[in-house]
Amino acid sequence: MAIFGNLSDRLTQTLAGLRSKGKLTPADVDGTVREIRRALLEADVALPVVKDFAAHVRERALGDEVNRALNPAQQVVQIVNEELVRILGGDTRQIEFAKQPPTIIMLAGLQGAGKTTLAGKLAKRLAGEKHTPLLVAADLQRPNAVTQLQVVGQQAGVQVYAPEPGNGVGDPVRVATDAVRFAKDKLHDVVIIDTAGRLGVDQELMKQAADIRRATNPDEVLFVIDAMIGQDAVATANAFQEGVDFTGVVLSKLDGDARGGAALSVAQLTGRPIMYASTGEGLDDFEVFHPDRMAKRILD
Ligand code: GDP
Repeated sequence: MAIFGNLSDRLTQTLAGLRSKGKLTPADVDGTVREIRRALLEADVALPVVKDFAAHVRERALGDEVNRALNPAQQVVQIVNEELVRILGGDTRQIEFAKQPPTIIMLAGLQGAGKTTLAGKLAKRLAGEKHTPLLVAADLQRPNAVTQLQVVGQQAGVQVYAPEPGNGVGDPVRVATDAVRFAKDKLHDVVIIDTAGRLGVDQELMKQAADIRRATNPDEVLFVIDAMIGQDAVATANAFQEGVDFTGVVLSKLDGDARGGAALSVAQLTGRPIMYASTGEGLDDFEVFHPDRMAKRILD
């Protein structure tokens, strides 16, 4: 995965430097932690996350578990691994389906984050798992958004609920609530609502998303964030958390060669798990996010 290339190189180099040592002195630990801090900052990881990570690694590396270990350096590598898993959100989490269908999933995020593409990916995946998803075009802001979702729906072989063409701009809250009613009538067991995004966080957009959330009471609100976003990840994630109180995160464009800071920051910053990763433009370029596997990939 190109995205963590540099970070991965830096961390493995730093930890390789430790392996030649027997007992570790506090100076060895401090030097290693300093290198790890630097590597994370260069990868655009948000400062509070870097500080928290470094403090945990340092405290544990100076503690008994390393002192008593047969191979202290190996133990530090293990600690770094565990701490990476922790900041990436710990356990894998997938969609929690409603006891009473339909399960309602709302997507939110900036324009271009990858929401519409994700809607298609998720719908295709769910349809393959014998669900009967309905895609809902509640992004009425962008002229092409409805058509784009229809194309994606066709590719995924999934029905799309869209406002009638020619009905003016329309009311996205109304479209979303009508769609939920439609889904109940037609026995769709999952409703995926695509919402509008702007290039930057804006009050009107956030209010619209919050209104859709309130009106449809979704079981999951997925915040889609472009892994290329860099240091803007913090402000964007905070704004969406405040605005729509999302239940999970989807990282998109993990196939790119961004430094990956957003990916490594957002779960820890918001306390919400990264649930899926988007890894390309095709509808199958999509995977469940496993923090432990990602940590392993970074440290291997
Ligand atoms: P939206 O505005 O949030 O709905 O974003 P779109 O779904 O329209 O995606 C914006 C652009 O990013 C499109 O050109 C997509 O093909 C592309 N895109 C979406 N997800 C990915 C991904 O995981 N990897 C790559 N390389 N491109 C993606």
